[in-house]
Amino acid sequence: MTDYFEVHARDGAARVGELRLSDPVTTPALVDGVLSDAGSLWAAERDMPEGSDDVLTVLPHRSLPAGSADEIKESFSVEYPDVDFPSAATVTADTADDYGADAYILSDAQGFIGHARAFRDTIVEAKSNLPADTALMLSGVATPRNVAVLAYAGVDLFDETLARSRGLEGFYLTTDGEYFLEDLDELPCACAACQKPASEFTRADAADHNVNALRAELSRVRRRIRDGRLRDYVEGQARHEQWLTAAFRRFDQQYSYMEERTPVVRDSELAAASEESIDRVEIQRFADRVTTRYKNRFDNPLVLLPCSAKKPYSESQSHRQFHEAVQYRAHMVSMTSPIGVVPQELELTYPAQHYDSVVTGDWSEDEKTFVAEVLRRYLKRNDYSRIIAHVPPGAYTEIVERVESDLGLDVEYTVSEHPTTTESIGNLMRTLDGEPKFSRAEREHNVVKALADYQLGAGAGDELFSDVELEMTSRYPKLQVWNDAGEQLATMVPQYGVLSFTLEGAKVWRDSDAPTKTVEIDGFVPHGSVLAPGVVDADSDIRPGDEVVVEGPRAFAVGRAEMSGPEMVSSTRGIGVEIRHVEER
Ligand SMILES: [Zn+2]
Repeated sequence: MTDYFEVHARDGAARVGELRLSDPVTTPALVDGVLSDAGSLWAAERDMPEGSDDVLTVLPHRSLPAGSADEIKESFSVEYPDVDFPSAATVTADTADDYGADAYILSDAQGFIGHARAFRDTIVEAKSNLPADTALMLSGVATPRNVAVLAYAGVDLFDETLARSRGLEGFYLTTDGEYFLEDLDELPCACAACQKPASEFTRADAADHNVNALRAELSRVRRRIRDGRLRDYVEGQARHEQWLTAAFRRFDQQYSYMEERTPVVRDSELAAASEESIDRVEIQRFADRVTTRYKNRFDNPLVLLPCSAKKPYSESQSHRQFHEAVQYRAHMVSMTSPIGVVPQELELTYPAQHYDSVVTGDWSEDEKTFVAEVLRRYLKRNDYSRIIAHVPPGAYTEIVERVESDLGLDVEYTVSEHPTTTESIGNLMRTLDGEPKFSRAEREHNVVKALADYQLGAGAGDELFSDVELEMTSRYPKLQVWNDAGEQLATMVPQYGVLSFTLEGAKVWRDSDAPTKTVEIDGFVPHGSVLAPGVVDADSDIRPGDEVVVEGPRAFAVGRAEMSGPEMVSSTRGIGVEIRHVEER
């Protein structure tokens, strides 16, 4: 139970939080000024500190060096009392537990900082042992260069100890490196400490500058988390030190840790600008859902198309031409790096219309392998009467040919030189001669069902919508879904390409065999939002941004999850669900 820390925004494992002291501190932040250490039990027996709302009191502790044996840890372990002031407990990852503190300090940070795998393992273990709504602190390790990655991993609190001491030793730290003071003939910074010629710049000045640089980097990190764009920044920032690059790759390998914490939808752009972009949760999750949940419902041939720089694809010049040629006689699926394949029904679904990648026309081997693998899985799951590849020569054609031969398919190729030449467009048009057109109603129904599959799970579209006579009002992409009794079930949200349900729709969902995402609450009627303490239970596969059904003895509601299911269950503060519609029971 924590009264003094609350998470306000999440971006993967990183969070913007609030240390609720008499003067609140927005985290991730330096907490030197508000930390009060009750002291080490190695030096003396300590009385329990009195504590105060002005500071975060570090309870008396007995830190052990990194690598201490288990028996030693056990025999020197500390009993932490329940206190009613803001407090921090000192723990190691494997002894971490819910001691009732608001923050936890990992005592062996110096032992794992600089070692990518040990860092990842320690943070993941500590986080799994600690309540989600408490702050995690690393002391004596933060620098302007590493702090973005540390926050990305899920660390909330830092101190200026290392930055200051490095300055006093004669090192000038920046976000991209460090310099000997003597080597600087010009100060690469404009902070208050750097307002003097390099020749007069002292070690004390360097200490001040280092702390300023650390502060500035932390405020950038907070901004990035609020924008949902810390990952884009970290992919570049981590480049400045090998172990940091290795560290965030290690976190990519820890897929479940990152996936649980990554929102399913976001309105910010996703910059796919480095080779690691392929490994980020949003990309992997889309590919996974397209190849395990999505199901093609059209009887028409498949036309594989290249992506366009403009999103959604259908609004690009090239795709307008493809569309003119196809005329609803084929199911259009775009191939793209780094997303994989995007069926036309999902072209608005996050991150399909939100990513921006560097377009050079040259694909790396990793990109080709990834897109080929997604296409292979897609074609294994979905049968088509014909497969037409309207893709340019080079990587696209190479990928289709690879999959064609792997699966023993027979693909028709319609491009000569370039997909938009008159000849290519003519080929595409003619090759579909005699194929029947699908209707607008069929197309719209298939969109709605595909979104349900993607959001809720394989088969969900049919479970929810096959027994009702669907009526659509308003045009794509703002589809409104009604049943034949004149009740609205859902609306398509064009910004994210997802469905949002009405109360009636939520009941259809609850009563169907589709996987539900349910949040069970206490006996109250939520208005506006459900706070975490009111949550009795929540499905563990709920992710931030998910549609959820909220049920309790007094209320039935539908809304959007603000945190993951596991976090709702273990948190005692913060908004769990934003309610859209509610009815009393
Ligand atoms: Zn400076």
